[in-house]
Amino acid sequence: MKLLIATHNRGKLREYQEILDDLPLQLLTLDDVGIADDVEETGATFEENAFLKAITYSEMSGLLTLADDSGLEVDALNGEPGVFSKRYAGDEKTDAERNAYLLEKMRGVPREKRTARFRCVIVMQDAEPFEEMQMGKAHVRVLRVWKTEGTCKGEIAFEPRGTNGFGYDPIFIVGDTGKHLAEFSSEEKNKISHRGRAAVKAREILQTLLRDVEM
Ligand code: IMP
Repeated sequence: MKLLIATHNRGKLREYQEILDDLPLQLLTLDDVGIADDVEETGATFEENAFLKAITYSEMSGLLTLADDSGLEVDALNGEPGVFSKRYAGDEKTDAERNAYLLEKMRGVPREKRTARFRCVIVMQDAEPFEEMQMGKAHVRVLRVWKTEGTCKGEIAFEPRGTNGFGYDPIFIVGDTGKHLAEFSSEEKNKISHRGRAAVKAREILQTLLRDVEM
């Protein structure tokens, strides 16, 4: 069975490959199927953006498609950067510049008020109709869609640390571990991260689908 992982983000792709590695799936990327454009993420929530991407890319590719939307919510910044995580501080900025910008915004915020969380919503959309029926004059194609979610709680550090991962990992301290997310190996990160948690649930859905295909 083919599964399109709908992202151009190398870091994300690697994490999904690791989590889904042992399933009998052929994982394809947007580049593999010749989709160069990014869907414009116009949704107001992670959920809306994940639906938007899964539906659009599955229609474009004709494949079962997994899309996610994720980001960082900082309580002292009223939930920012949220759905703007990727573009925070401007489109052309590097991860390091984005981290510096966020730390600057958090300057003077005491430790106990630096709480934050990463959130991830995954939506998977089937390209083949599960059921087709005639309702009066309308021919209805029923496409299945699944949604899972994951959260990783922690706080914003005072300075960056660690070289693994991507994005805001260097400035995010995980729970009460005292360790920055960028100090975890990718295997460790997958066990505790928002994406890892949402992906494990998506993996269970895929296992059921694979069993149904075999039967
Ligand atoms: P998306 O590609 O629209 O989901 O944007 C997610 C953005 O949120 C990324 O570009 C990162 O800036 C940030 N982000 C999401 N997940 C992570 C993570 O696991 N670590 C660090 N930053 C993340």
